[in-house]
Amino acid sequence: MTPELSADELQSQATPPAEHASARVGIVGAGQLARMGWQAAISLDLDLLCLGAADEAAAGAGAPLLEGNGRDPAALATLAGRCQVLTFEHELVDLPAIVELEANGVQIRPSATVLALAVDKLHQRRTLSGMDDVEVPSYAPVTDLSEVESFAADHGWPVVLKARSGGYDGRGVWICASRSTAGQALQEGQDAGLELYVEEAVDIALELAVLVARSPSGEVAVYPPVETCQVDGMCRWVVMPARVPENIAREVEELARNLAVHVGLEGLLAVELFLTRDDRLLVNELALRTHNTGHVHTEASTTSQFEQHLRAVLDLPLGVTAQIAAAAAMVNVVGPQDGSDPASRLQDALRVPGASVHLYGKRARPGRKLGHVTVCAARPETALTLALDAADRLEGND
Ligand code: ADP
Repeated sequence: MTPELSADELQSQATPPAEHASARVGIVGAGQLARMGWQAAISLDLDLLCLGAADEAAAGAGAPLLEGNGRDPAALATLAGRCQVLTFEHELVDLPAIVELEANGVQIRPSATVLALAVDKLHQRRTLSGMDDVEVPSYAPVTDLSEVESFAADHGWPVVLKARSGGYDGRGVWICASRSTAGQALQEGQDAGLELYVEEAVDIALELAVLVARSPSGEVAVYPPVETCQVDGMCRWVVMPARVPENIAREVEELARNLAVHVGLEGLLAVELFLTRDDRLLVNELALRTHNTGHVHTEASTTSQFEQHLRAVLDLPLGVTAQIAAAAAMVNVVGPQDGSDPASRLQDALRVPGASVHLYGKRARPGRKLGHVTVCAARPETALTLALDAADRLEGND
């Protein structure tokens, strides 16, 4: 007769969980980027732990979750204790806590020094403007309206006021046509406790973005640049290849590669750029993580940005970044004003030929990013027309 076993003994006799060959990656953040990172981790059977809230997109898709917040040093320390490498899906983090973890031997990829560029946009501007071969819009830190006015006296109206940290999707960016709108924006920003800087309003011909990965062993892989369109500060669509002359595309790739090497990137870097009407390339913003403008690579390039991010932070061989579709477009799906859920119109969107629909499982709210659609086609215009059609169907637009 089998002797009765205690709960502990039963536990020890149970089939042990499969050991992961890889180190566990801790992702600070649990939104849609972490969710798509989890999709990539499943394919390679990589071990992940996301730091965020239970009602966010990653946990909804079954990603292992540590409940907490990236601004909380204790939560970051717990995550670090349970993972071998820490990386990020957003930059709303307690940077001093990250610096301390790194000083205590935790592998942080990208490093705290590199992450600091994304946390503080003014620090980013200063760093970039000190680099050879990188041009950024003219800028200055401001604390009051007279400083904005004296900047505008040199550079003309309109000017752009920006929050040093905490902004995204156009939040924390105010395009100000006059002294009075600048005064209102300054007040609004300062009431929210934000530190601000001002920059010239660039005469933009089109906006571009490029992604580059660099592994700790120094391997670098640059994706083809994409063309992006912003509506109200939020990305509406992305087209690949960017419809720019070949020499501009090569210059963008070279710039991304140089930036990755110069800062000592470990992980993924997204670079957003302005191409001016007089053909200058200005760097607008860096993000040290997977990026909305990189979603198109999931279908249109050999390796998705989510898989590449994990490969890079685990120092695995980087994936090929070649464009495998002649052309592709990605369109974001945003919550409509009536509060309805795009998921309820999935059937209609799936009738669009070639539409790859990604829904993030988030609660629908007007203006909230809830998914995206990618279409590959022979020509960029065809891809964009079809992707816009599918996104419009999901959003319930006529
Ligand atoms: P966020 O971090 O919110 O994405 P960005 O700095 O990327 O903020 O700005 C959002 C959008 O606002 C840009 O994509 C661009 O369309 C517009 N914008 C930002 N800065 C400028 C500028 N200096 N001149 C003209 N347009 C700008």
